[in-house]
Order: sequence, then structure tokens, then C-alpha cells
Amino acid sequence: MSHSPSLPDRPTLNLDPDMSIEEQLEALRDHFLDVSRVHDELTAQLETARNRQSELRNEVTDLQEENEALKTSSLYLATVEELTDDQVLLKQHGNNQEVLTDVSPRLYERLEAGDRVAINDSFAIQTVLDGETDARAQAMEISEKPAVDYEDIGGLESQIQEVREAVEDPLTAPEKFSEVGIDPPTGVLLHGPPGTGKTMLAKAVANRTDATFIKMAGSELVQKFIGEGARLVRDLFEMAEEREPAIIFIDEIDAIASKRTESKTSGDAEVQRTMMQLLSEMDGFDQRGDISIIAATNRFDMLDRAILRPGRFDRLIEVPEPDVEGRKQILRIHTHGMQLSPDIDLGAIADDTEGFSGAELESLATESGMFAIRDGRTEIRREDFDDALQKVSESDSAGMPIAFY
Ligand code: ATP
Repeated sequence: MSHSPSLPDRPTLNLDPDMSIEEQLEALRDHFLDVSRVHDELTAQLETARNRQSELRNEVTDLQEENEALKTSSLYLATVEELTDDQVLLKQHGNNQEVLTDVSPRLYERLEAGDRVAINDSFAIQTVLDGETDARAQAMEISEKPAVDYEDIGGLESQIQEVREAVEDPLTAPEKFSEVGIDPPTGVLLHGPPGTGKTMLAKAVANRTDATFIKMAGSELVQKFIGEGARLVRDLFEMAEEREPAIIFIDEIDAIASKRTESKTSGDAEVQRTMMQLLSEMDGFDQRGDISIIAATNRFDMLDRAILRPGRFDRLIEVPEPDVEGRKQILRIHTHGMQLSPDIDLGAIADDTEGFSGAELESLATESGMFAIRDGRTEIRREDFDDALQKVSESDSAGMPIAFY
């Protein structure tokens, strides 16, 4: 408990009538100085008291909130299965009990099948869990219709063709496979250098098939959610089932499916558990219906061959660095909305950018636009590309990431 600080003594003024005018003036001056000092001290004390008052107010608010929270009963989690005309079908987590419940029209408008909600004892929906509350959603990127189409991808015609056959056809025309009497591939593995369009391919096929795109990065599985990797893999497949048709995209699969090392640290054991969960989910895959699984890696050489067995990632598609024709197409795609001066020959720029990935070519186009803006122009000239090329090459050779604006 803090005690109130003692107040400074009140200054007194003793004017003796026998004093000379000068002496009285001197006494008055001293008194004025005393009064000013006391004033300053009191002002400082008032400020301290105000701060303390605001601290105590915050404490009261916190305690009131805690009190409210203690008074209310716990809520249960459920997933919205289906929306009927005016009711909602819910499935409670844990016991899988299904209930039909009424909701207010305001809440009804906000709900979609697959949403996670908090319900009370009488199954009334209290809140819809947003992305932040939903740890699963935090770890995954989910999009109903990714805004990428095959036309946005340059130089990967044969890869697009293979992805269409391996992922699009099983989802949109499963009879093609049953008529011939073969099973469609279970999983597709895209492998190749960074920034070459692997994620784009997966997104584009999700877009074409109207499948929900659910992305998770292997590195996140093992780094951010230590001890929870296996559970998240289970959640990932569960979520895909809830949102069928769906495409599961696991980026950087090497983070969870590298060749076994000799070391036996607990981190390795955790990675192993995560990978085993993934394998067991894939092995029980054929009953899953409309779900496709695509994985991507920049480190094909490091992968544990167990994940490449039939029934797992049994279709490998290499996504290489673009060749000169591919680079020209990618440049055309990324300069599509830009005003290029007639002296720009994208073929010549493609010649000069050997070894560039799609992501680097996109950055080159953005950089040249920045040079034009800096020069007060809306039209992009060849010299802007030359400057951008120099900048991109410099940042590349210095091992720095290329600047994005
Ligand atoms: P990483 O292995 O690093 O995850 P990735 O191969 O998945 O990379 P993407 O995320 O698909 O690469 O590409 C990154 C960006 O680079 C894309 O958003 C796109 O703008 C551009 N890009 C890459 N490849 C191509 C391409 N073939 N055509 C057009 N744009 C491309």
C-alpha cells in the first residue's frame, strides 16, 4: 500500500513594520521564491497522484472483466456443418454430437459451412471464432478461390498439363480414371528452385476446380508449433474433409520429410512424428473423396524416399528455372499492366536474364517501374530495365533479397 506523500510546509510572510522599504522588498522576494517552490512541488505531487489514479482505474477495469469471466460458464467448440433455411447444423468438437440450432438473422448472415464457433450448454452460438482465435487457421492459409489462373504462369506449359492431368481431372472428371480402371495419383510433388511458380501452379488448379485451397508450410509445422506438428497435420486433413473439394498444399515439405539423420535430438523425434502422421493420413487417403494433395520442395535431394512410394507422392513434376522463352513469357505477364516504350524488346531482356527465376523477373519489372516513377514518367524505357537489372544483380550477388515495393 503506498502512503500519500507529506505536503510541503506552507510558506509564511513576516513583514515587520520597522523594516526599511528595501528590507521589506527583500522579504517579499524571498517569500515569492518560497511560494513558487511549493507550487512546483505540489504540481509534481498532483501529477503523481493522477498517474496513480489512472493505474488504479485500469486495475479496477481488469478485475471487473476477470470477475465477469469467472461468472460466465465455459463455452464449447463446434463446427458449422450446414446452413438450412433458418437453422444451422453444428457438430460439437470432442464428442462429434450433431445438433440443429436456431440463430439470429444477424449471425446467420455471417456464418458459412466450415466456420468454427463457440456454443453454450444449450447449443446457442455465442461467437464465431475469427482467424486469430482459430489456431488452425493461423497456421494455414485458406482461400476459397485463389486469384491465380494458368494464364498467369509463364513458361510452364508441360508442367501445367501434368498438373491438370494429375489433380484437375481426378476432381472434375473422376470417371476418366474409373473407365480405364486406374487410380488417380494420390499426391503430386512439385520440385525445383525457389520462386519458379510451384505455389502458383497449386493455386491455379484450385481456382480451376473450384476447390478450397489450404496451404501449410512444412517449416511452420516444425518451428512455430513445436510439439503440435502431428496434430496440425491431422487438423489439416480434417479441415480439407470439412471443405471438400479441397486442395491441400504443403510447401517446403523437406522440413518434415527429410532423410533420417543419425542424431536423436527431441527436435528430430518431433519432425519424425509429424512426417509419420502425414504418411498415415496419405495411406488412408483413398476413402477421402474430393481432396487432392500437392507438396513442393526446393530440396528434392534431401527428401526421405518413404514419402515417394506409390500411394503417397507418386507423381513427381519438376518445375525448372525458366529458359529464355519462359523468361520472355513471364516478363510479358508481369509487364502486362505497364506502359512500355516501343524500344523495349522483352526477348532481348529475356536473353540478358539467364538464371533468373520467375520471382526475380517479377521483381525486375517492379524495379524498372520504380525507376520510371523516380524519373517522373509513367512510361517505362529500356534504360529503366537496365538500371533495374543492375540493381537486382547487385542485391543478388551480395546475397541480399531483392527489394520489393
Ligand atoms: P518457393 O519455392 O520459394 O516457395 P515457388 O516456386 O512456390 O517458390 P511462387 O510462390 O509460385 O514460387 O512464385 C513467387 C512469385 O514469383 C509469384 O507470385 C509470381 O509473381 C512470380 N513467378 C514465379 N514463377 C512464375 C512464372 N512461371 N510465371 C509467372 N510468374 C511467376
